[in-house]
Formats: sequence, structure tokens, C-alpha cells
Amino acid sequence: MSSDCIFCQIITGEAPSAPIAETESTFAFMDIQPGSDGHLLVVPKRHSTDLRDIPADDLTAVTLESQRIAKHAYSAWGADGVNLLNCCGADAWQTVFHFHMHVIPRYRDKNKDHLRLPFQPGVRGDQDLIDSLATGMRESLGEG
Ligand code: AMP
Ligand code: ZN
Repeated sequence: MSSDCIFCQIITGEAPSAPIAETESTFAFMDIQPGSDGHLLVVPKRHSTDLRDIPADDLTAVTLESQRIAKHAYSAWGADGVNLLNCCGADAWQTVFHFHMHVIPRYRDKNKDHLRLPFQPGVRGDQDLIDSLATGMRESLGEG
């Protein structure tokens, strides 16, 4: 619990939210600046900053709860697809520093869905760069 964290305040009820579901270790509520109709967030009740410090059991619980709710986005809201998104660090678009998983329902009807791809899909990458990055990661992981 971090007293100046807006998501900790939402979990305790100090700050308002539109809640969706609660488990022993997770809380889910609607995003106030939705990228699509039904965009919501699933957070661990225990404060973690981001992907790097969240304990494995909280990460597992948040991921499974995100999957459970994502399935209902089809039946409850008529979603045609779903994106799960986590942002780790300001340079990866993180703005609230309490770990959260975005559950973003997607729709063929673009009146309900304002998300657009931020990168150009289908553009073949530089193979030398791909290979050298793979080598660096294998070394960092101790994969030989
Ligand atoms: P991120 O940029 O991944 O850190 O996402 C933070 C998300 O939290 C954004 O989509 C915001 O719209 C959302 N958000 C910020 N404050 C609140 C709040 N008080 N209630 C609900 N969602 C919020
Ligand atoms: Zn917090």
C-alpha cells in the first residue's frame, strides 16, 4: 500500500472507481480514459511498481483474472477481439506506477474502438540487428 498511489486509493475505496470484480489478491475497474468501449484495468491489491518488481503470485493472479474478464468481453459487450497490454516504465507509456494490466476489448465497429497500431506491421526488420539482439539476450539469460 502506497498512500500517494491512485490505484492503492481505488482499491481501498478512498478514490472513486467503476469496479468490475474483486478476488483475494486482485481488483478490476474501468479505465477513465478508455481506448475502446469497456477498456478496464486489473491490478494486484498489493502495491508493485511494474513488471520488474511484481511477485510471481500476483502476476499470475492478475493475468488469470485478465483472461477471465477478457472472455466475458465477448458475451457482455459483443467484443470481436481483446488486447492485453502492460506498460513497464515511462518510456513504454507507463503513467501510473502501480502494476496494471489493460484489458482492451476490440471491435470491428470503429465507433467503439479508437485504438490504432503505433507501429507499421508487416515491415521486415534488419536481419543482422535481429540476430545480434538475439545473441545479446541469450547471453544475458545464460542460454549460451
Ligand atoms: P499506463 O499508461 O499503462 O500507466 O495506464 C494508466 C491507465 O490508468 C490509463 O489508461 C489511465 O486512463 C488510467 N487511469 C488513471 N487514473 C485513473 C483513475 N483514477 N481511474 C481509472 N483509470 C485511471
Ligand atoms: Zn499502489
